[in-house]
Amino acid sequence: MPNTRFQALRAVLNREIPDIKLPSSKISDYFGVNVFDKQKMKEFLSKDAYTVIIDSIDNGVPIPRDMAEQVASSMKSWAMGKGATHYTHWFQPLTGSTAEKHDAFFEPTADGGAIERFSGDALAQQEPDASSFPSGGIRNTFEARGYTAWDPSSPAFIIGRTLCIPTVFVSYTGEALDYKVPLLKALNALDKAAVDVCHYFDKSIEKVNASLGIEQEYFLVDTALFNARPDLSLTGRTLFGHISAKNQQLEDHYFGSIPSRVYAFMQDMETEALQLGIPLKTRHNEVAPSQFECAPIYEEINLAIDHNQLLMDIMDRVAQRHHFKVLLHEKPYAGINGSGKHNNWSLITNTGKNLLSPGKTPKNNLMFLTFFVNTIKAVHDHADLLRASIASVNNDHRLGANEAPPAIISIFLGSQLSELLDEIDTSRLSKKIKEENSLWQGIPKIPQILKDNTDRNRTSPFAFTGNKFELRAVGSSANSASPMTILNLIMADQLKKFKMDVDKLLKKGEKKDVALMTVIKRYIKESRNIRFEGNGYSEDWEKEAEARGLANIKTTPKALDAFISEKAEILFAETGVFTKREAHARHEILLDSFYKKLQIEARVIGELVMNIIIPAAIAYQSRLIENVRGLKDIGLDASTYEAQLDIINQIATHVNFIKTNVEQMINERKKANKIEDLRQRAIDYDEQVKSYFQPIRYHVDKLEQLVDDSLWPLPKFRELLFIK
Ligand code: ADP
Ligand code: MG
Repeated sequence: MPNTRFQALRAVLNREIPDIKLPSSKISDYFGVNVFDKQKMKEFLSKDAYTVIIDSIDNGVPIPRDMAEQVASSMKSWAMGKGATHYTHWFQPLTGSTAEKHDAFFEPTADGGAIERFSGDALAQQEPDASSFPSGGIRNTFEARGYTAWDPSSPAFIIGRTLCIPTVFVSYTGEALDYKVPLLKALNALDKAAVDVCHYFDKSIEKVNASLGIEQEYFLVDTALFNARPDLSLTGRTLFGHISAKNQQLEDHYFGSIPSRVYAFMQDMETEALQLGIPLKTRHNEVAPSQFECAPIYEEINLAIDHNQLLMDIMDRVAQRHHFKVLLHEKPYAGINGSGKHNNWSLITNTGKNLLSPGKTPKNNLMFLTFFVNTIKAVHDHADLLRASIASVNNDHRLGANEAPPAIISIFLGSQLSELLDEIDTSRLSKKIKEENSLWQGIPKIPQILKDNTDRNRTSPFAFTGNKFELRAVGSSANSASPMTILNLIMADQLKKFKMDVDKLLKKGEKKDVALMTVIKRYIKESRNIRFEGNGYSEDWEKEAEARGLANIKTTPKALDAFISEKAEILFAETGVFTKREAHARHEILLDSFYKKLQIEARVIGELVMNIIIPAAIAYQSRLIENVRGLKDIGLDASTYEAQLDIINQIATHVNFIKTNVEQMINERKKANKIEDLRQRAIDYDEQVKSYFQPIRYHVDKLEQLVDDSLWPLPKFRELLFIK
């Protein structure tokens, strides 16, 4: 019987490419058909109920009980009309994926019959027995109750035969157990702070929304090959594998023509996503072989994040139908690019103005400058928190690995804007304004069309790209709510401070424009050292950043400290986004999952090496030994089997090294497991246990190169990356 690798390869070669039929040639015909969106609400709800729910969506006004009853009933009618039999509260626990528990609409009646029912209560709140989700000690088992509560700002949708209702997830004691609650709080704080600042320029602005467009990178691999790699299927990444002779050197995959099988998958996946109202717009090949990207049009941020979470789920489901596995891991293959999730972020007012878009008039320019410089200042003051918000065991493979933005948070503005800020910084602007009593002559002109002039710098973790900032350091599997909660809350805090600073000057009798410009100028100076226009991957930058005093924390357990610092505690309290208990709980959950993931990887390494790799190497070695014996028997002299002896020896060396090191690694693991302090345990896993991974891998990969190809049991990189 051929080994699993060859069975898998045979399966891949027999794949057929399904013919994808689109529901219509026009996407607009089927966009959002599976969403209970505003249009459908209008159709299914009474006028009163519709007004109430729109007010809730737009302004967060709570929905009264009787209205919830009406909404539930209409939602049910709509959903049943589309074949739904069940409903679920859909939420985002701190495991990182989404959660759902389905209940049938069906309810027995007293007379032995049954009806289909969906009450306002069932819509508004549920109490899933969700005691197994991570809570960081917030829920003891004796008060394990957790509640999910409807988030009307994100519309309900149907997957399969289930109506899914986006909800928040909180503990019995009211603490957040999910990603959504803190995000919504941060957005609320941001809205208030931003509107206040907007009023310096335009009193008609009533609301500011953050917008987000998420570019999602991923790898595809055939299911059969995936299943033949226990490391991939258990940890999401390959723990061994010699780099393929050809990989991404020629850069011939990037933006190349999309392979047919992948194209079929993409169309199928996009159709489902579009029907769920996810406005997918862009698809292309990425840099690494078998790496791809998709991106939607940006949306209000809470919705954009729900959509991204949903998208990751859909990708996985649809891929199954195509015998593909989607790899969302940040670094599935050592030696080639990993995957990220660029978060394109800006602020947009209810009047439709993008606050990060330079305007036509000088007044608009000042408004732009205000929000632009405040963003820089916020990131400057809280770079450590932003860094913490993207930290994960997976992302540690990317950040600082000379391919993704480094672990040093810096901001790229492009030469035009960078020069502009320098000009303001060094000019005697405020004085000039005061003398001339006219601000507008003092403000340097900002060119309107920046986008095309913004030189691209892919090495920056946080880059301005014309009318938005792009946070590029987010990992491909992350829930964007984590960094976006931090970004929006530090921005909220910053804008509040800005307003206080400006008001102080106004009180002193300063003219408004002068006051604004004076504070902006000061912020530019104070945040100067986080701006960096050069190559973020270079060693020089690491040195320079160090000289500038910027943090460069390469690993998660230490990066996470920022989350429970005194500074963070004050910030969280002032913005009301996390209580101290919530922040500590999150810190604990993140550390816990960090070390557990390393623990799993270490175990998988141990098992694979002992049960699969070493036996394969020894089988080949035995063949060689037999061969040498045969050559000897027929009387040939030693020079004829020199090569064989050499390989036999090399195999012995590698096998010995691997076995000894696996044993040592297991010892380190045992020691680490005994450490009580969670942070220290995570650090030990990182520094003691993980340090064995690379050396063991090196020798396994050497064996891969030595052993007869027909005996090698694990699909090789060239197969994982190129065969589909
Ligand atoms: P780029 O090439 O600069 O990355 P794209 O046009 O490819 O820009 O857009 C990348 C993502 O940024 C898309 O999801 C897009 O919708 C989003 N985007 C564009 N403008 C904004 C904005 N004002 N706010 C948030 N996201 C935006
Ligand atoms: Mg981009």
